[in-house]
Amino acid sequence: MWEADLQKFAREHLLREISVLDSPAGPFMALDGRMTLQFASNNYLGLANHPEVKHAAQKAIEEFGVGAGASRLISGTSSPHHDLELALAHFTNSEAALTFSSGYATNLGVIPQLTKPGGLILADRLCHASLIDACRLSRATLRVFRHNDLEHVQALLTKRPTNQPTLLVTEGVFSMDGDLAPLKELARLAEEFEALLLVDDAHGTGVMGPTGRGSLEQWGIESDNVFHMGTLSKALGTSGGFIAGTKDFITYLINTSRSFIYSTAPPPAIAAAAQAAIHLIQQEPERRTRLWNNREKMNQGLTAMGYQLTKTQSPILPIIVKDTELAMKMSQLLREKGMYIPAIRPPTVPKGTSRLRITVTAEHSLEQIETALVAIKQIGQFLKII
Ligand SMILES: *Cc1c(COP(=O)(O)O)cnc(C)c1O
Repeated sequence: MWEADLQKFAREHLLREISVLDSPAGPFMALDGRMTLQFASNNYLGLANHPEVKHAAQKAIEEFGVGAGASRLISGTSSPHHDLELALAHFTNSEAALTFSSGYATNLGVIPQLTKPGGLILADRLCHASLIDACRLSRATLRVFRHNDLEHVQALLTKRPTNQPTLLVTEGVFSMDGDLAPLKELARLAEEFEALLLVDDAHGTGVMGPTGRGSLEQWGIESDNVFHMGTLSKALGTSGGFIAGTKDFITYLINTSRSFIYSTAPPPAIAAAAQAAIHLIQQEPERRTRLWNNREKMNQGLTAMGYQLTKTQSPILPIIVKDTELAMKMSQLLREKGMYIPAIRPPTVPKGTSRLRITVTAEHSLEQIETALVAIKQIGQFLKII
């Protein structure tokens, strides 16, 4: 059954393989046994290997052991989970927050509770697979609007039957394009049409906004019909996801959200580590400054070489190569030079938009960025992309 599919993937350069990492996710990684300079991880602030984050996890392991032992409602909620949720409520300026074992599980557990069968969901065309899966799970009618196209959203809202409960779904920072959603305008439309808006800020948490609180801080949005979803797994360097909201809404989720109720609580050590990471985001703002300086340097270098980038406004800097084989070739030649930048292919991105997805972090040095730029230029010229 799957053999034919595997052959087809291989023919179309869409076969995916896993590389094995034998080191922390820093700028240099031991990847398949070779030290490799990487521009691939979402560990934007370098917190995944920060001594204080590690120490918090170690301390919690000593105190609580490794596994939580049960789901949160049975006997799995430990004080680190409780403290983390208080910290997240504070961090997002919300009444309450709830954590899940992953960002994926957060979307699956939240979106069906923000709509109902027969309701309407309008989602951006470039939304992450976890959002699309969650929308499907909800059994509401899913309509996709053109990427960041407010007129399209408005037209779909105007056309819907009166009183149909409606949820708008988008990302604060788009994961594969690095551009931002027009959140202010979407929040305004949501208000005007009495709809709810869910913002998946997986790549905005810790990165966007004057104090790293995410895209909603960046745009100054505070509204009871806008829901802030974020991850602990990217800039916060740990694992898991969260949703913030009113106390009532969080209580409702605790009572109804299936991926929350029917899944073992994440290890208490992870919750303790995530809380340390939130603390560091506030205590070490220079990490965000370095991240954005590095991003500027990489962006300027690539633009000056004549690469076609997306309209990115974040540390995600994708070079659109279009052709899948060419994107793979470019990534492979970089790998031979000791550098890892992944090629992102369909179905992760739409057909004909295969790309090299570069992510920079606070931990990269300016020399490492220079090294990458030299290699990306040479290979781009060799492959006649620039
Ligand atoms: C990574 C990501 C997720 C999933 O988060 P995990 O914690 O990795 O499960 C959800 N939404 C978006 C936009 C993402 O980029």
